[in-house]
Amino acid sequence: MSLHNYNGYQSNMFNLILFGPPGSGKGTQSEKLIVKYGLKHLSTGDLLRSEIAQQTALGMEAKKLMDKGQLVPDEVVIGMISSALDANPLARGFLFDGFPRTAAQAEALDKLLDLKNTSINVMLALEVSEEELVRRLLKRGETSDRSDDTNENVIRERIAVYHSKTAAVADYYKTFDKVMMLKGEGTVDEIFARLCNEINTRL
Ligand code: ADP
Repeated sequence: MSLHNYNGYQSNMFNLILFGPPGSGKGTQSEKLIVKYGLKHLSTGDLLRSEIAQQTALGMEAKKLMDKGQLVPDEVVIGMISSALDANPLARGFLFDGFPRTAAQAEALDKLLDLKNTSINVMLALEVSEEELVRRLLKRGETSDRSDDTNENVIRERIAVYHSKTAAVADYYKTFDKVMMLKGEGTVDEIFARLCNEINTRL
């Protein structure tokens, strides 16, 4: 019996979107979730920062937008995600972090997954108050080398972009009944337990 379908992808993949505003804890929780569930972590923020570190042309263009708190063009991040999906044909599933961030990205992701005979199982959305987000991001800016976390205006712009462009992505998945909202405040372990509860009921 083969665990793989014709194009090499496992037919029983579990694909999760971890959703929420900047500073809601997606990166922290992703690191724990990928270990527990054996998923491949796809963070467009991390992929873009890796392009910047390697000083590629794509990275240099992206950095200008990221430093202003604006989104990188849809085609750029969709292309990166498409390559990452192709590069991991044996993954048990993917954890998408920071993607999709626009309705166009969500539609493109559905099409890419459909081509691989798989789909999104669930979007888990972390809810955190704006003051707590700003507090967390400024704190992260003190120790990380992320220039977009040191300036409060850039942080507020990222949160504004989240409301104007990204929040609609949750509405898109709500139409397919795939969204679960969770409280993103509390200890890291408390939030992790909430996320695991939701995943376990869907595995
Ligand atoms: P945060 O969630 O804290 O804003 P990320 O690491 O997810 O951090 O993203 C950092 C920046 O990278 C964003 O402000 C944006 O400029 C860019 N970026 C990341 N993911 C995307 C995406 N899916 N679409 C467009 N731009 C993105």
